[in-house]
Amino acid sequence: MPLPQLSTLPNQLSLTTIGRARAWWKRLTPVRQDRFAMLAPLVAVMLFFIAIVAALGYLRIEEMDREQEAVQRDVEYSQQRLRLRLLERQEQFMRVARELANRELSVAEFKTRVEYMLNQYPEVQGVAWIDERRRVKVSSGTAINAASQLITAQENSKRSDTESGFLQARDTALPIYIQQVRNGEFTPLLQLHVPLVDKGRFVGVLLVEYSVDGLYRYGVPSEMSARYAVSLLDGKGALIAGSSIPTKKVVSKFLPWAAPSNEYTMPVSPVGDGLVMRAQAYRASMSVVSSGLFWLVTALSVMTAWMLIANWRHSRRRLQAQQALIQETTFRRAMENSMLTGMRAMDLQGRITYVNAAFCQMTGWSESDLVGRTAPFPYWPEGDREHLAARLEEEMTGNNTAGGFQVSVQRRDRSKFEARLYLSPLIDANGVQTGWMTSMTDITEPNRVREQLTAAHQRFTTVLEALDASISVAPLGSDELLFANKLYRQWFGIRADGHLQLVAEAGVPAAQPNDESRDEVDAFAGLPTTALSETEAERAEIFIAALGKWMEVRTRYLSWVDGRLAQMVIATDITSRRLAEEQAATQAERAQTASRMITMGEMASSVAHELNQPLTAINNYCNGMVSRIKAKQITEEELLGALEKTAKQAHRAGQIIQRIRSFVKRSEPNRTNAEVATMVAEAVELAEIELRRFNVRLNHYVAARLPQLLVDPILIEQVLVNLLRNAAESIDMALRQTAQRVVELRVVPRRVDDKPVIEFSVQDTGKGIAPEVMARLYEAFFSTKADGMGIGLSLCRSIVESHMGRMTAENIYNGNVVTGCRFSFWIPLSEASPDSIRIPRISK
Ligand code: ADP
Repeated sequence: MPLPQLSTLPNQLSLTTIGRARAWWKRLTPVRQDRFAMLAPLVAVMLFFIAIVAALGYLRIEEMDREQEAVQRDVEYSQQRLRLRLLERQEQFMRVARELANRELSVAEFKTRVEYMLNQYPEVQGVAWIDERRRVKVSSGTAINAASQLITAQENSKRSDTESGFLQARDTALPIYIQQVRNGEFTPLLQLHVPLVDKGRFVGVLLVEYSVDGLYRYGVPSEMSARYAVSLLDGKGALIAGSSIPTKKVVSKFLPWAAPSNEYTMPVSPVGDGLVMRAQAYRASMSVVSSGLFWLVTALSVMTAWMLIANWRHSRRRLQAQQALIQETTFRRAMENSMLTGMRAMDLQGRITYVNAAFCQMTGWSESDLVGRTAPFPYWPEGDREHLAARLEEEMTGNNTAGGFQVSVQRRDRSKFEARLYLSPLIDANGVQTGWMTSMTDITEPNRVREQLTAAHQRFTTVLEALDASISVAPLGSDELLFANKLYRQWFGIRADGHLQLVAEAGVPAAQPNDESRDEVDAFAGLPTTALSETEAERAEIFIAALGKWMEVRTRYLSWVDGRLAQMVIATDITSRRLAEEQAATQAERAQTASRMITMGEMASSVAHELNQPLTAINNYCNGMVSRIKAKQITEEELLGALEKTAKQAHRAGQIIQRIRSFVKRSEPNRTNAEVATMVAEAVELAEIELRRFNVRLNHYVAARLPQLLVDPILIEQVLVNLLRNAAESIDMALRQTAQRVVELRVVPRRVDDKPVIEFSVQDTGKGIAPEVMARLYEAFFSTKADGMGIGLSLCRSIVESHMGRMTAENIYNGNVVTGCRFSFWIPLSEASPDSIRIPRISK
């Protein structure tokens, strides 16, 4: 593998590292990116803090080293000074000792010299001349104590410091320093024993006592004690003179508050280990500065970190708020864009500041065309500009109409539409009006719909007004009239009285005027009102005396537009129909009577023949009685018998006439509960007159225990007589043999459509009904007979049908040969009324 050139290697490495870092960054989710972005400054602050602490620590060590060196140097210098001073004194005292040993110095001179030195050198406290036998020759200052000590020590054979100094000086013949530590409050002293040697013989010592305090005060340079806490210690490290700083426990020498104070100790040279000089650096100021710096940096770092975190949290909150705002804005924008209402905002000067999508779409002008424009706006139709400008001016003064106003708007393509504008003030967050907001709705379509509705309403009203029926609507239990058309107003006026009268007389009970009628359950019928309004209209025919009119009244319930249950009454003038019906009824009645007369007319010869028999018999009886009375051949009993027979014949003739009279007598329609058997018997009696003439036999069968029928008996008899006559005529025309000249009449109960009826059937043995005749059987004035009128069957059918019955005719076959025909009809039992129309009540 070829190695990359050395010079490009770091470059490439850094490039690939950057590339990798970038790729890694891009792979991160936005939340993690956000977190890292937040962490980076924190890490930077931490690093900065660590760097500052490290720098401080480093500086601290440097400074401490430097300080240490300085202390060492200074201590060495001071020690040198002290040593020089001590050596100087030693020199002087050694000279005195030499002179003493050589007896060059008298006691008085010595005293003077010592006195002088005590005055000259304040550290010298006392001087004593002690001979070899420890006798104090001369003493001055504090030295007498030491000398006495020396003597006491010898007596007590107890070695004190002074004693050891004396002995050492005697033995070594060298000046000896002794650290004299005295108990109590006495100032520590330093003794110098200078041996007095005369020609090699020890002759005593010169004892000099120095005050250690004095040494310190005068021997240590003042600049030294200003900079350091300088102290003199004895061999055991106890403080003898000077000041000291209590030493701290060392935790780490890098930490400024925990680092030890710099100090240096050094034995004071001619004395040796017995006197040690120590200097401790006052580092308070430096410590304060560095620790202050440290705390400042720490505080700044903490503050920066805290601010970063706070800032991050704040920005996160802001981001959330921003997102919510964006969402809200998008939502509002979407809402605005989906809205069909055009929106336009204007500033207080009437300049358009905003238009929504719907507004642009409606007018055909784009947002950039409209925003920034002032009146006249491009969508104002040319003709209306002045009027619109005036209107806008008025609106801007705050004089706006609550319901908006209608204007016509011109699109970019110059087409126009009608719009309704609503103006409202735009108030900003501080409650200050910043402009006007106008909403615009295209009302072309609503207008069109309204016009259509109006037209439809007009058409509807016109139809209702022109209707030849009176229509009125009134709520139940109230005399308020909700609607009345022209005819109603014409007939009854504008009050609800007519409506209520119609309702009352039509027999449709109006609901009681109580509150329950407004409930869901109708008070009158206890039915739910919805069911009620769906029920079939009620019909009735009534006579209104005040108008002199017959009316057909229909009522129905309906829910009025306000939800109230109302009753609608439709009254139609049926006076003319009623009259026509009455006329028709009269005519029908006349026709029936006429028909019966005709029947009788046709039967006249038969009737005459029928009457002839009793009349002939009466005549014969009368003639016989007359002749026998004349011949006086008759007994009273025989006469009585003959008269009875005569009376019987006369009764019979009278009966025939009575029957015919009652048959043809014109009578009012009269329905009664009639016995079927009686009706049949009477009809048979009449018909038999004709049947006998045609030599036709009648067999009749009436089922037993038939119920009564509510009919007009004369009319039913008429039908039966007609059918029986037709049967006899048919048999006669067929020229049947005597044995075959039979008519069968049967009356039996039956059920038609599950209802009980009574069926009458008349069967003959004639030639039957030809197909072409069958089709026209019930046609009035259709007859196949030379002298026939052709109204019999048509009347029969209308009579049967007016009794709610039905009539049928059929041929009777024997194989293919027609052997006769059967006419049958049935009358229902239960139906009491002949008509579906209820029997009207005549109003007075
Ligand atoms: P008319 O008896 O005066 O002709 P109808 O109305 O009674 O009038 O009868 C109409 C016609 O029906 C008769 O002309 C006759 O042709 C036919 N018709 C009626 N009854 C019978 C019957 N029993 N048999 C055959 N044809 C009949």
